[in-house]
Amino acid sequence: MTTTPTGPLAGRHALITGAGRGIGAAIARRLAADGARLSLLGRQRDALEALAAELPAAACAQVLVCDVTEADAVANAWSQAVDAAGPVEILVNNAGQAASAPFGRTTDELWQRMLAVNLTGTFLCTRATLPGMQAAGWGRIVNIASTAGQRGYAYVSAYVAAKHGVIGLTRSLALEVAAKGITVNAVCPGYTETDLLRESLSNVVAKTGRSADESRAEFARHNPQGRIVQPEEVADAVAWLCTPAAAAINGQSISVSGGEVM
Ligand code: NDP
Repeated sequence: MTTTPTGPLAGRHALITGAGRGIGAAIARRLAADGARLSLLGRQRDALEALAAELPAAACAQVLVCDVTEADAVANAWSQAVDAAGPVEILVNNAGQAASAPFGRTTDELWQRMLAVNLTGTFLCTRATLPGMQAAGWGRIVNIASTAGQRGYAYVSAYVAAKHGVIGLTRSLALEVAAKGITVNAVCPGYTETDLLRESLSNVVAKTGRSADESRAEFARHNPQGRIVQPEEVADAVAWLCTPAAAAINGQSISVSGGEVM
């Protein structure tokens, strides 16, 4: 039996990109708990369907298989999402990848891929969403950037450039839509316990010969709390930005990093 959703986002249609695992999956669980109806987007159908099956029936989660770097695929996914669940009222641009290389070994392919998935993907998904929000006079866009959008890190210049771009896009669009009932903000996690972090740790181990424990401790030292952030902590910040209570928060980049950036 489908119960009527309750909570601060009751009945709102939220689309989350990169929802199948990691931070995206934590955001999906959290927005579902707050009453939202979900569209879960990513490239791997199995992961998305497994998550949809676990969510409460009232979340009516639908799965959209789509690569956010492909404009036609994004347009098709949006028409499917809107046909099934109405205009997207909350967009969480979470899909991302973080490849590392010293600047001198940053290939054209790596550079283009980091910009495509982290920055162009955010642009394409936002462009597909905005007209519906403007027509409704209400919307929430939350871009999962990174502390890498707020400061530099060695050996990830393409990723850092893309995430700085996401914050620039966030600020500019926030101004354009400020008087239209729409807010646009960025959430900037520090090192967070997901596959992306585990892959980065494996790279450090392979390239430096340090142990996994030493490498993890090195990552945790970036955070003044001396720990790795949990995906649920990022999801909590996203959920708050989506509530009516956060209507005055616009164009911000909120660091969820134990004070790494202040
Ligand atoms: P994961 O690697 O665990 O998950 C990444 C998600 O993005 C997956 O669901 C993946 O799904 C999806 N994805 C990747 N490429 C594409 C694509 N081209 N099209 C559609 N979906 C795609 O990483 P996290 O959960 O850690 O990362 C989520 C976001 O948080 C990213 O934007 C990342 O940059 C950011 N972040 C992460 C930090 C961390 O330490 N973990 C720190 C700061 C920011 P699929 O493979 O099915 O497509």
